[in-house]
Amino acid sequence: MKPQNNILRKLKGFMLRTMPNMITCREFEGFVVDYLDNELPEKQRSKFELHIRMCKECRQYLDAYQRTIEISRRACSSSDDAVPDDVPDDLVKAILKARKY
Ligand SMILES: [Zn+2]
Repeated sequence: MKPQNNILRKLKGFMLRTMPNMITCREFEGFVVDYLDNELPEKQRSKFELHIRMCKECRQYLDAYQRTIEISRRACSSSDDAVPDDVPDDLVKAILKARKY
């Protein structure tokens, strides 16, 4: 991550802390799995959806997450499918770990 992005992230973190009813990007990431499984309680769900509208980074995160799940589902039948370059390695690992049942 570029240093400039770090500053933006910190600034956003500060804004989120000073606004009621907002979740942080970290909380958002923690909610993603439950949200996609439709297991997020109504209260958290509305906060989550508000955060998506406010935060471009998390929109991209959610998008990458959904695409990775799609890919990992398809990869069950064929291991030849490559994960796109724009999906971060650690995200892929986290998803594969989370999807293990
Ligand atoms: Zn965010």
